Amino acid sequence: MANLKNFPYIFFNNQFVKAEEAKVSVMTNALQYGTAVFGGIRGYFNQKGNFISLFRIDDHLNRLLQALNILGVPFNYTHRQLKEIIIKLVKKNRPKTDIYLRPFAYAANLGLTPTLNSNEPFAFTVYMIPLGDYLPTHKGLSVCVSSWRRIADNAIPSRAKIAGGYINSALAKAEAVNQGFDEAIFLNQEGHVAEGSAENIFLVKNGVLITPAVSEEILEGITRRSLIQIANDLNIPVEERVVDRSELYVCQEAFFAGTGVQIAWIASIDKRQVGNGQRGKITSRLQDLYFQILRGNEPRYEKWCTKICLKLI
Ligand code: PMP
Repeated sequence: MANLKNFPYIFFNNQFVKAEEAKVSVMTNALQYGTAVFGGIRGYFNQKGNFISLFRIDDHLNRLLQALNILGVPFNYTHRQLKEIIIKLVKKNRPKTDIYLRPFAYAANLGLTPTLNSNEPFAFTVYMIPLGDYLPTHKGLSVCVSSWRRIADNAIPSRAKIAGGYINSALAKAEAVNQGFDEAIFLNQEGHVAEGSAENIFLVKNGVLITPAVSEEILEGITRRSLIQIANDLNIPVEERVVDRSELYVCQEAFFAGTGVQIAWIASIDKRQVGNGQRGKITSRLQDLYFQILRGNEPRYEKWCTKICLKLI
């Protein structure tokens, strides 16, 4: 569990406050109805250099602002201001571990109606926690296809990280864990493979890297986009397309990809072994390289990393 004591500051109500002071009323519209959008950004601690390397912060902030645009709500912070706040927060908290940042834009009004029409702009807060692996990355996961379908884009826009929509993820995750699995795979409303409960999915079939297309009611993951780029750079063929459920049972490799899970490989799906049940060749290549990239150790991909020096405050 996160230990907020490790990090004394949270950005809340337009200022940096002590973590215990960042509190909202129980009547807050976002708490009652999930009228909020959020992001999730990882920062990797480099002990030697005493810096944190944030992964693709600009892309995360773009997605957050796009989500607010999808909701059509007023918001007073610019991309530049959000980035400055996040960098300042990291510096103030002086982490000595890998971190996870949670920017959160929300309906702070206390009105009873679940609506986005309030003239009050969405409020903004961001906190950070220490975070290691979210799912194991060194052993293969045992996963199942969920009986819950992924939310349809025209019900709750699936390409936005909308707080209320995450009840969908929670239902799928709870069902999987209750049945003894590590994680769930969602099918979309059409019955095609969509993604994991909070991560995108990739399969490898006959040397081709396959992932559901962005129109398949998935979240357009930044890890997903990064891996497609890396695979292109490595000349690994990539297909973004409709994926049938039965392809899950005939692929040679499968893995999840997301900020939280990073890359976590799958050993079995619905009790059927994936490939030989070991970490596959293409998965290994991508996973090993990706973990180097995340820590800022690959010059070719350094543009994705924002280094925050922790000495200067
Ligand atoms: N799908 C869902 C539903 C998610 O919540 C996440 C985590 N943000 C992802 C996919 C992966 O997206 P990203 O790589 O941008 O973290």
